[in-house]
Amino acid sequence: MKREWDLSEVSDGKLYLEQDMAKVGCRECEGCHDCCCDMGESVVLDPYDIYELCRNLHCDFETLLQGNKLSLGVVDGVILPHLNMEENGACRFLNEMGRCSIHGFRPGICRLFPLGRVYADCDYRYFIQIHECSKKERTKVKISKWLGVPNGRQYHAFVNEWHYFLKKIQDQAAALQEAGQLKTVGMFILQEFFLKSYNGDADFYGQFADRMKQAKKLPILK
Ligand code: SF4
Ligand code: SF4
Repeated sequence: MKREWDLSEVSDGKLYLEQDMAKVGCRECEGCHDCCCDMGESVVLDPYDIYELCRNLHCDFETLLQGNKLSLGVVDGVILPHLNMEENGACRFLNEMGRCSIHGFRPGICRLFPLGRVYADCDYRYFIQIHECSKKERTKVKISKWLGVPNGRQYHAFVNEWHYFLKKIQDQAAALQEAGQLKTVGMFILQEFFLKSYNGDADFYGQFADRMKQAKKLPILK
């Protein structure tokens, strides 16, 4: 999502890589679930999130939508899924103990928190959102360990490719809209990267690469 902000106001001014240590450890949250509430439509999901959710919950994307766990929203002109919150603002995956019921395969945005990503020069770095986590006295943790995603390099490359792919479309959203093509492009992305089932027994990255090959045939991405 495009946002105008000053990094120095929301971070400690440092940028981090996966191999760096950062003060993000919050002693397993100890009874707090603040960042699982009142998130509105902001926990936007990417294809890896959907692959992991469907694989681990043994369902498909449409079942998640029908079960009201997810909804579709429009982010800078592109249709993308996001987590749904309950009427009281709590995430629908938060259990009665106030813990994440899908912790092992929670979405990327949840894994990141309270880190954020800042993109520049065709890549990204992490920063600490210093005002977001209410826990004081946080401990230093290696960022790759904090994220807890296997195949960290492949995951980084995927996150980056997905970001710049969406950005290219979002940057042209107004022109596409005017040309009457935005809906077609949006439906293609929805179908190719989300509705079309992933094989949960096979590696994600190969399946993503195949879909990206199809997407790059879109005239606007040539
Ligand atoms: S706000 Fe901080 S301590 Fe609370 S649940 Fe989120 S990460 Fe954990
Ligand atoms: S998926 Fe889990 S970690 Fe993410 S907002 Fe929901 S309960 Fe919290």
